[in-house]
Amino acid sequence: MFDEPVVCVDVETTGGHPAWHRITEIALVGLRAGEIEWQWSSLVHPGCRIPPSIQRLTGISDEMVAEAPPFAAIADEVEARLAGRRFVAHNARFDYGFVRAELRRLGRPFTAPLACTVRLSRELFPDQPRHNLDALIERHGLECATRHRALPDAAVLAQFWLALRDRLPADTLDAALAKVSRRPSLPAQLPESLVDDLPEACGVYRFIGEGDALLYVGKAVNLRERVLSHFMSAGRDAKSQRLAAQVRRVEWTETAGEFGALLLEARLVRERQPVYNRRLRGGGGLHTWSVGDDGAAPQLLALDGPLPAADLFGLYRSARQARNALTTLARDHKLCLRVLGLETGGEGSCFGHQVGRCAGACVGAETRAKHNLRLKLALAPHKLRAWPHPGAVALEETSALGRSARPTSANAAMPWRSPARWRSPIAPASSRGWRAASTSRCCASRRRTTRPSTRRCAASIGAPTSIPRRRSPASGAAAIRPS
Ligand SMILES: [Zn+2]
Repeated sequence: MFDEPVVCVDVETTGGHPAWHRITEIALVGLRAGEIEWQWSSLVHPGCRIPPSIQRLTGISDEMVAEAPPFAAIADEVEARLAGRRFVAHNARFDYGFVRAELRRLGRPFTAPLACTVRLSRELFPDQPRHNLDALIERHGLECATRHRALPDAAVLAQFWLALRDRLPADTLDAALAKVSRRPSLPAQLPESLVDDLPEACGVYRFIGEGDALLYVGKAVNLRERVLSHFMSAGRDAKSQRLAAQVRRVEWTETAGEFGALLLEARLVRERQPVYNRRLRGGGGLHTWSVGDDGAAPQLLALDGPLPAADLFGLYRSARQARNALTTLARDHKLCLRVLGLETGGEGSCFGHQVGRCAGACVGAETRAKHNLRLKLALAPHKLRAWPHPGAVALEETSALGRSARPTSANAAMPWRSPARWRSPIAPASSRGWRAASTSRCCASRRRTTRPSTRRCAASIGAPTSIPRRRSPASGAAAIRPS
């Protein structure tokens, strides 16, 4: 297996994402049975400018590629050299993703068995802390004339491949290679190419069933990992099994970051009510407590319209959740459940007062004014803050790659996001008298991303607040704009 024909590939690009960026240089080194058969490389005209930071990293400048052929002109050669060989690269998904994207733009679908040398190195040398190319060069005494240029980097991989073959037993190598190049299994009705097509990016995915029925909508920090995990867990629980059996097609929309993905997911779930989504569905409205200064019991309000000017505390997904939260708070602060309207029936002493959990507002041992003051103090951390801006704001979410979300050709455009109104604690906001919990709540705490994103609030940087700057759909962004 290790002696089969392989091609070591390295590409230099204008950035990190195959859908947005282009190849500026490609190198291929053909190997078979311990011999280097040939090596080939070419600069590539990317059809756009190369960002200065990338020019500094790779040393490939706009001038250098000015006379280079576009990818279309070398596609025949590239395809011929890749044909029938295992695609070997360092962080193989990167190079493979770029080569596939360039070929797909030319209407030439491409797939190949993959071998990632990072994963191979980890598998064979698990005790080593680092597996980047520099570490491999040092550890195995490889030679590299110029790092970050395509041919020298691809040649290092070829040397690495040969060094492994010289130093380790064939069955060890074959076992490691088989392990790292194992492809995730998909339900039989889905195309094999899905494994390669799913991007390693933030976004929202949709499982479509028979008759175009929307089965499930989910958001992911890494779409590929998340979607494939559904099918891997299909062996374990019944719901995943049913979903995997019913899905006929998977669609996705990339977003710049997790925030945009959460908004889009919430909107799709509410609008289209997918069969398998439970958590975000249902009655939907949020609840909050309104507390006046008159000592009357707090009022539970549903957040479905303009709010009164009263002080409001907490955001809850249901009335029951709101009551449970207030009950717990009352117990912690010896407040009276009867005065709070949470205990009904009878006059006089509440049950809590009899067991020492109520300071006695129900029997006059504490004045209503003092009780109300203590209630408000206890609730203070949960107070809803008024929308701090004079009007609506636009939020632009930018990925770590410095880009706003941009749709790929395979997916529907998802440029500005302007929800009709806010109904979830993800990001309550509006200019119609709605209130927002601290905007730091916008980003749910479950972030475990490898791809941090940044958010900018247009209002806070002095940009127009009522109408987001216009953008072409192709450069989309997460716009937050109440209607
Ligand atoms: Zn009481």
